[in-house]
Amino acid sequence: MASQNPVAEAPNIWAVAQSQFDHAADKLSLDDGMRRVLRVPQRELTVNFPVTMDDGSVAVFTGHRVQHNVSRGPGKGGIRYHQDVTLDEVRALAMWMSWKCACVNIPYGGAKGGVVVDPKKLSIREVEGLTRRFTTEISPLIGPDRDIPAPDVNTNAQTMAWIMDTYSMHHGYTIAGVVTGKPISIGGSLGRNEATARGAVFTLLQASKALDVPLVGARVAIQGYGNAGSIAATLLADEGAKIVAVSDSTGGIHNAAGLDPAKVSSWKQEHGTVVGFPGSDEISNREILEVDCDILVPAALENQITKQNAPNIKAKIIAEAANGPTTPEADEILYDRGVFLIPDILCNAGGVTVSYFEWVQDMQSFFWTEERINESLKEIMDRAFESVHAMSERHEVDMRTAAYMVAVARVAEATTLRGLYP
Ligand code: NAD
Repeated sequence: MASQNPVAEAPNIWAVAQSQFDHAADKLSLDDGMRRVLRVPQRELTVNFPVTMDDGSVAVFTGHRVQHNVSRGPGKGGIRYHQDVTLDEVRALAMWMSWKCACVNIPYGGAKGGVVVDPKKLSIREVEGLTRRFTTEISPLIGPDRDIPAPDVNTNAQTMAWIMDTYSMHHGYTIAGVVTGKPISIGGSLGRNEATARGAVFTLLQASKALDVPLVGARVAIQGYGNAGSIAATLLADEGAKIVAVSDSTGGIHNAAGLDPAKVSSWKQEHGTVVGFPGSDEISNREILEVDCDILVPAALENQITKQNAPNIKAKIIAEAANGPTTPEADEILYDRGVFLIPDILCNAGGVTVSYFEWVQDMQSFFWTEERINESLKEIMDRAFESVHAMSERHEVDMRTAAYMVAVARVAEATTLRGLYP
């Protein structure tokens, strides 16, 4: 059961993010001054900080917090713990957050953070120590009115609880709104866990209407069976779609007659993998992208759909639950082939949207029902889809370019209206 990663090329994602911005800036005929401003992050903080390890030794870790643009509101973006974190990666993710928040029109700028660490090699106590010291080191930047972190790769609700507690200890009172993605009992929001997948399904419902590809009976393949992928499988099955293939980092499974997402989740929980699920055939993570289906949902990693496999993709619709799963060359191939792609900054923006609801609830100390959260999420996702789709039709551009045009225009407008200080 080998792990297969179809990354044949791994472009620097900061170069990719900048080239996507350049493309939208060209289409918007953005002036040169504004391009220079928006092409680079506004603030970058790199910190090297000590942590006492369980054996009494001192280790020094490196982390970053980057704010790309905060013209539309406080910075917003996750914190990632991964051994491969680089400043360039954090820059790209921060820029994508600016566009994502602007694309769905929530009042945030873009930010992101990361620590170079493989947290699986640390004890829980060491991860807590690392989190508290990293929070202290980036505390000049973060705050409920300035920059609001959230979970990302290898960080979770517990990590957010430690960040919130550390920040609150510095101030002497509880400041729940400094992070989102917290446990419900300390100011988290109902519906946050499902929000990314639910938002993606709302965009798919809109796409299915626009393209006249009914979700009922549609065959769906999903790469990645974590938070985004597994919940998307359940919600799509609830809409009447047939989940024909899913995968995780260990490999994939296929059954043309359909897989039951709840049973696959129980199997994965018990065996640590989707592979071996009764009644399914094993397929690789390369094959899952090219499997015969109507809808493909990449919900794992960056750079999965490349110029190598884009010509072989059978899906009519691709819904990017993952961030950055498609390279710019693959985008062009897919567009020429008439594949309808719902880009990441629109498709997976449900997560940050419900984070926004969490922050609003924290600031008001007034908590909403799950029904209200899901209804408000639908309103925002539907409106965002309509703006992007209309832009794509008006300018005859692909949906990613259209989403960037909508987003970049909003950030540029806010930056222009505020003027250049001093
Ligand atoms: P997760 O860690 O819960 O799940 C990731 C899944 O991908 C796991 O099933 C893992 O086994 C699988 N995976 C890892 N490597 C793989 C490989 N080489 N091939 C196939 N599968 C592989 O993470 P998540 O929160 O579901 O995030 C998935 C993607 O969605 C990421 O790109 C993330 O940035 C994006 N995203 C998530 C959220 C959110 O709220 N969770 C919000 C926006 C975007």
